[in-house]
Amino acid sequence: MPIHVLSEQVASQIAAGEVVERPASVVKELVENSIDAGAGDVRVEARGGGKELIRVVDDGCGVPAAEAEMAFQRHSTSKLSTADDLSHITTLGFRGEALASIAAVSRVTFITRAVDEPVGVLLRLDGGKVVTRQESGRPPGTAVTVEDLFFNVPARRKFLRTDRTERGHIDGWLTRYAMAYPDLRFTLSHDGKKSFQSPGNGKLRDVLVAVYGLEVGAALLEILPGEQESSIRVSGFVSPPSLHRANRAYITLFVNGRWVQDVRLTYAIIQAYHTLLPGGRYPLGVVMVQLPPEEVDVNVHPAKAEVRFQDGDAVFRAVQRAVRGTLMERAPVPLAARPATSWPTAAPITSRREERLERLAGLRPQPAGEQLRFEQRPADAAAPGESVLTPSSDRLPPLRVVGQVGATYIIAEGPQGMYMIDQHAAHERVLFERLLAQRERAAPTSQALLEPQPVELSPETMGVLEENLEPLASLGFQVEPFGGTTLLVRALPALVAGEHPREVLEDIAAALLAGDAPLGARVEDAVARSVCKRAAIKAGQVMAREEMEELIRALERCASPRTCPHGRPTMIHLSIEQLAREFGRG
Ligand code: ADP
Ligand code: MG
Repeated sequence: MPIHVLSEQVASQIAAGEVVERPASVVKELVENSIDAGAGDVRVEARGGGKELIRVVDDGCGVPAAEAEMAFQRHSTSKLSTADDLSHITTLGFRGEALASIAAVSRVTFITRAVDEPVGVLLRLDGGKVVTRQESGRPPGTAVTVEDLFFNVPARRKFLRTDRTERGHIDGWLTRYAMAYPDLRFTLSHDGKKSFQSPGNGKLRDVLVAVYGLEVGAALLEILPGEQESSIRVSGFVSPPSLHRANRAYITLFVNGRWVQDVRLTYAIIQAYHTLLPGGRYPLGVVMVQLPPEEVDVNVHPAKAEVRFQDGDAVFRAVQRAVRGTLMERAPVPLAARPATSWPTAAPITSRREERLERLAGLRPQPAGEQLRFEQRPADAAAPGESVLTPSSDRLPPLRVVGQVGATYIIAEGPQGMYMIDQHAAHERVLFERLLAQRERAAPTSQALLEPQPVELSPETMGVLEENLEPLASLGFQVEPFGGTTLLVRALPALVAGEHPREVLEDIAAALLAGDAPLGARVEDAVARSVCKRAAIKAGQVMAREEMEELIRALERCASPRTCPHGRPTMIHLSIEQLAREFGRG
């Protein structure tokens, strides 16, 4: 094909692709515009996960009627005029691309009235072209409606996920802005139902309660004001060491009111908890960094989710010091490990040793009848439900435990040489196969709580769990929606019977939201993986010999003993030949 200039339409669709990835990107850009317009009240409405319709209505300054069309031209903005302005940006927008990009790939209705004008104007655009313009009466402010996103870019439309997933992304953006701007009142509804509202009273803690629920919101610690001289201000909330999560997803960062993804700053927060959290657990935090605009470059990324600091080390130190200082001051008794779970359950009281042994074999204490059935099984008989698993030549030979290294790895010997086994990964595998076997027999062993517990969740967490009640039930969860974002928990899978129901559910939701169950894969498996991860013995836990032996026996019975349910290896095998070679014998 000879070189030629792309048609304007194709060029603008390509450019739009950088800004508008999915419905949530539209929400983000429109909400940013409302914030920049000085709105106090921002209402967002979505239909069909935003694929059908997104509407953002604000009470901001509005656009003068004479400039309305201009707002939709590429590189047209009221927020910036010279290159010099780029060095001290105080608005969220500045590229003048969002409206043009959104309009290029959807049908837009734009109604706006500037504060100082008597009437407003209505524009309708179809694929970026204005098709209607008329006067319109409305109070000052702006209402943007975006319909049929990607109607003219089928390739993009095809890649949109389920309504549920797209909805989750929208929720994520809206709750982020609600946290960054506690003075503003944000309201979100999906398919006509209100799903989130921030109070708009200027109190970040109240927003956090709306986002994470009362329990978490109340437990978070407010970051103490740092040194007065520094030009870098750190504020927000972080979790006490007793409150933690399975991944980093609950660490939210803002720089000058802009949500950013910054690996280093996230690490600074995690670092501040050094030795305070059990291995593999992460804090929650909503951390705002304020610094003079000329010390940060926001023009790094079309979606503006990354920034560059003039003095990154200073920002890193400021964040780490602020968080660490807060922890030392507000949570003075460090908890070296997770406190023993004391959630009330109907579990029979067993000695700790006994309980650990049962846990290792994948048998948490069961109600009496159940327990007998398992205990009477001869050690070498097939595990319950084993026959439903595909037999595989991958099975392990009998192994002899030699010892434990670093409280994390078990060293064992077999006819084929030496095995170094990751105790956590191996245990996850054992538990996973048990759980799947129980599910296949439609006999999930669950453990009733002494009393049903209402558990308040974030809208995002509630949404994803509500969509997956069946997979949850198939694994032994007895939960039901209890109004709003509350789930009533009646029973948990026996494996996690002693755990805090909210934490178990949040781990599962996080795994599902992080895409642990890609389209078509079994949601049940993702739920099972999450349950097993939580129930499995942790790295760093010293094990008695008989505990190690119990675990290795159980692993020998697994159909796929060599990988954990997440696909990582459970063991490294060094054959006799490899050992001989390493020692120069062979
Ligand atoms: P940017 O935000 O980078 O300036 P946009 O394409 O998002 O670019 O918006 C273009 C212009 O339209 C803005 O600079 C602003 O003047 C105007 N505008 C867009 N949305 C609103 C709104 N909700 N209220 C007032 N003005 C708006
Ligand atoms: Mg904008």
